[in-house]
Amino acid sequence: MLYASPFITTYSLVCVALLGLVMGSFLGCLAWRITHGESVLRGRSHCDECGHALGIGDLIPVFSWLAHHGKCKYCGARISAKHPIGELLCATAYVTIVAHYGITLEAVEMLVFASALFVISLTDIEDYLVPNGAIVVAIAARIVFIAAAYALLASGVDAALIFAEPAKHVGAPADVALALVRDSLIGGVGVGIIIIVIVIVMDKVLGKESMGGGDIKLFAVAGFYFGWQQCLFLVIVACIVGLVFAAFQMKRQSQEDENDKQLAEDIKDQTGFDAALERTCLPAFPFGPSIAIACWITMLFGAPVVNWYFKLF
Ligand SMILES: [Zn+2]
Repeated sequence: MLYASPFITTYSLVCVALLGLVMGSFLGCLAWRITHGESVLRGRSHCDECGHALGIGDLIPVFSWLAHHGKCKYCGARISAKHPIGELLCATAYVTIVAHYGITLEAVEMLVFASALFVISLTDIEDYLVPNGAIVVAIAARIVFIAAAYALLASGVDAALIFAEPAKHVGAPADVALALVRDSLIGGVGVGIIIIVIVIVMDKVLGKESMGGGDIKLFAVAGFYFGWQQCLFLVIVACIVGLVFAAFQMKRQSQEDENDKQLAEDIKDQTGFDAALERTCLPAFPFGPSIAIACWITMLFGAPVVNWYFKLF
């Protein structure tokens, strides 16, 4: 239906992009409230610095930030560029998901899952936190999707309005729903157990915690959505993305160390005071965003890659 005519395609995707921008702004605010211990339901949005309540005109995604040159209108405090960047990323995720899944119930399910992943990424970057609420929302969206798919199929709704690939879900409504439940349970439990075993072995080998409990939950939820086959692909992608992020962080870290060393030398030259500080341990590294990006890539490319891979045998 999405590709019925160029006009429908363009119009639908522009609407989805606007929805993605608004949701990106809303979810960013939600993540901020979770990490700062504020109520997620009550209270108005406000400036982090001066606490001034924000009006409708201050809450337009990306444009408000651009219009005020990245500063608070009331106190002039700088507002990080990560806000508009997050909103644009959320809109990009939304558009690619609808472009791939079409106007279907499955697309709605994946948008909810992507929104939960977006919040988890932000809270993990900010505070090394994977909120249980976001995990519960993701699991609930999958359960509701399967139940709704069954109800709609049973009442004679065209499978093309429910699934992105209806040809993969043919048969009696009960059989289709049972197959979805089976794949989700095997994926969620199977992937969860395999990851826990890997983590226990890694912890023993490295002699320290290799992966947080939140990351394990996130992999299990991914298994619940994609089944175990696509999760093989997902774990590989998550590790590659994680390595890229870790490399960037190490590069930035060494640059900061270099600056600190230079500063300490300057202080010593001028005052004779030895201000050199040794970094005793590397900072922890949030893995959640890498898993979230891997989930996004799996939504878009998981099925074709797995089909190709299993045809090799
Ligand atoms: Zn302010």
